[in-house]
Amino acid sequence: MRPLGIFGGTFDPVHLGHLRLAEEATNALGLAKVRWIPAGRPALRESPGASAGQRLEMVRLAIAGNPRFELDAGEIESDQPSYTVPTLERLRDSGVCGQQRPLVLLIGADAFAGLPGWHRWRSLFDLAHIAVAYRPGYELQIANLPSPLAEEFCRRACDNPDALSEAPAGRVVPFAMTPLGISATRIRELLAQRLSPRYLTPDAVLEHIRHHSLYQET
Ligand code: ATP
Repeated sequence: MRPLGIFGGTFDPVHLGHLRLAEEATNALGLAKVRWIPAGRPALRESPGASAGQRLEMVRLAIAGNPRFELDAGEIESDQPSYTVPTLERLRDSGVCGQQRPLVLLIGADAFAGLPGWHRWRSLFDLAHIAVAYRPGYELQIANLPSPLAEEFCRRACDNPDALSEAPAGRVVPFAMTPLGISATRIRELLAQRLSPRYLTPDAVLEHIRHHSLYQET
């Protein structure tokens, strides 16, 4: 069975960098689908500017019409802090993917470098493969990774995407995507200054932001 991609994030708001990452990962890594999982209460950062429900709705709007993208509201609906390992355990135990289907966690190079700060981070490798997207401004270099992560990376790195289908979890695959220097932070800044983030996020998301007057506080 082809691997299932898992894409978590705060998505505050979702933007074209996220969409291209998921789209290009699908093609480069041979994923059957990408399951988008917005964080409800992100454990490692300040409270998002938009509510959990708004962020979920913006992702729903952004991925609408793409049959290879699906939405998972599990973290948004939970009253627990959002941690990736329990989320992956839920997917494995709930029948969404069973224990044997390859899962591929999609993350940007900046998020990957912070992995040792994640709750039970080493368990990630038992639950999923990790595909690391290059992101402008965040070079993926072993010398720059925290040493426990650098060791895991050296042990698990693989540049053949076909290897992802051969085991349920455990590999780390860097992949190149069209470099897009877009961030949710920049979009929030533009909106707070009453400037337009048009063409950085889908029009439907922009409409939603405007309609609900999101991100206007400075
Ligand atoms: P913020 O600016 O608020 O920190 P963000 O733009 O990084 O947000 P997140 O929701 O935190 O967005 O990111 C979700 C995932 O997408 C992370 O793994 C992040 O590394 C990745 N990502 C976000 N933007 C890009 C981009 N332009 N290129 C590659 N990866 C990206």
